[in-house]
Amino acid sequence: MTPLASALPASALGTVEPVARPGDSLRWSRFLAATTAEGPGLRAALWVQGCSVHCPGCFNPQLWAEVGGRVENAADLAGRFVADAWSAGSQGITLLGGEPFDQAAALAVVAEQFRAAGLTVMTFTGYPLDRLTEWAVHRADFARLLDATDLLIDGPYLREQPDAGRPWLGSTNQGIRALTPAYATEVDRIEASGGVDRLEVRIRPDGQVDVNGWADDAALDDLLHDLGCRQDRPGTKARRA
Ligand code: SF4
Repeated sequence: MTPLASALPASALGTVEPVARPGDSLRWSRFLAATTAEGPGLRAALWVQGCSVHCPGCFNPQLWAEVGGRVENAADLAGRFVADAWSAGSQGITLLGGEPFDQAAALAVVAEQFRAAGLTVMTFTGYPLDRLTEWAVHRADFARLLDATDLLIDGPYLREQPDAGRPWLGSTNQGIRALTPAYATEVDRIEASGGVDRLEVRIRPDGQVDVNGWADDAALDDLLHDLGCRQDRPGTKARRA
């Protein structure tokens, strides 16, 4: 896919406070009940539709538009996703996209239901944590989603600074933050010794190939070429907030 251009210089990415949206409904693109490619252990993953950050080189430009995807009641979705994650044996959910904090109120509903069920929450965002914390003083939706997040990957994706040493992160400017003790040991281990990314390939009965997780462009192109498919489907190279 061709990366879309951003109107903002790299230094300004993620610095403009997104508008608040009501939390009763969520616009989302894809849900997996269990994956090992989107965070620690086996976990569910939810890709939301819509991103206001617009990092040049983003792997998921098809998730930028605030149209498309599906729009459903957030509480209903949360109940369904928790039940599916439990059935699959997942330890939590990863929220990614798209930009989770563009729909912070609705995703807080989802995240709070996972936490209430004893499951963990990992959230990707293109906004730096210090900005989110600053805005959370007057934005209850940001405060709620941060409060319900155990592990945060923050900051815009900067393609000039690729991160090959830490799992799940796209560029070296991004942070991996343990907001609760749930993954504090894991974060310390990654910051001390790094880690490896996982790439997950799913082949549907109709032959469609879905790929999620991380690989660099050359490795992913080689893989998709070997599988005889193109890199043009939602979920391909999914994630990297
Ligand atoms: S990398 Fe994440 S924050 Fe940046 S444009 Fe893509 S979806 Fe948005």
